[in-house]
Amino acid sequence: QEAKRKDGTCVYVRGMYDRFQDRQAMARDLEHALERDELLLNYQAKIDLASGDVAGAEVLLRWHHPDRGAVRPDHFIPEAEHSGAIVPIGRWVLETACAQGRRWLDEGRPLKLAVNLSAAQFSQADLVDQIKAALNRSGLPPHLLELEITETTVMMDMESSVQTLQALRDLGVSLAIDDFGTGYSSLTYLRRFPVTVLKLDRSFVDGMEHGGDPAAIAAAVVQLGQVLSLSVVAEGVETEAQAEALRRLGCDMAQGFLYSRPQPVEQFQASLPPPGP
Ligand code: C2E
Ligand code: CA
Ligand code: CA
Ligand code: CA
Repeated sequence: QEAKRKDGTCVYVRGMYDRFQDRQAMARDLEHALERDELLLNYQAKIDLASGDVAGAEVLLRWHHPDRGAVRPDHFIPEAEHSGAIVPIGRWVLETACAQGRRWLDEGRPLKLAVNLSAAQFSQADLVDQIKAALNRSGLPPHLLELEITETTVMMDMESSVQTLQALRDLGVSLAIDDFGTGYSSLTYLRRFPVTVLKLDRSFVDGMEHGGDPAAIAAAVVQLGQVLSLSVVAEGVETEAQAEALRRLGCDMAQGFLYSRPQPVEQFQASLPPPGP
């Protein structure tokens, strides 16, 4: 189940979709989710902490199952990765997001859109061509596309990751290390990886306003970003106290329920200020 809020967005409550535990059934249904038009994208704003402006958005995949309703992303995405269904689905996410980014650009709203890449996609031999094709087809300028790749994904095969990341950078897209701080953070690899953004995992934002380890780690990640000239985005910002603490540390951007929930395209667009002249 999901509960409809006043603004029309949905929040998940524990319910029947949690019992979609039959992995085979889920995998089977996922095979057809794309062609049956059950997938959609939500957009969550990324805020420039210094100016308060919406600088971009993360693109988050949603699945509305005809019988089961909204299936939790943390249930179906790992399954899609396991079955390989994430590869065609991920391509659709990329194409759809680029087309949307181009529409916003044409309306005078140049938003940088961040698309998540799974490990299965990242290791595909034609990944760079896929990204290039999505950019060409949509006409989205590469600087308006960011790819979020988890620390765990890039650490799986460091040598080939460096090459793939470099080839993606050569296209002109931005690269973010997602969930930073939860994997094997190593300064040596960070220096070698041609990435542009660190996304501070929300487990360190949660509770950082009370000091202690989360605050110390958040501070260290922000400093690391400054030393390596990487922009730092804090995820999961839920309170003004957290935002204030992050601003004091010099964190560049923030994303979280404090600013906006992930929303379907119409609601997200309606929440933006009118496009500039
Ligand atoms: P992620 O990339 O770390 O995405 C951030 C998650 O944090 C999202 O969960 C978002 O809804 C949630 N979030 C944002 N702000 C807050 C907040 O203030 N508080 C809390 N508690 N949570 C917040 P979501 O949408 O359920 O997605 C879960 C994961 O599924 C994502 O984690 C990402 O790893 C994966 N995912 C989502 N869309 C895609 C996609 O298109 N492709 C791939 N490969 N993975 C995706
Ligand atoms: Ca992400
Ligand atoms: Ca993340
Ligand atoms: Ca995460």
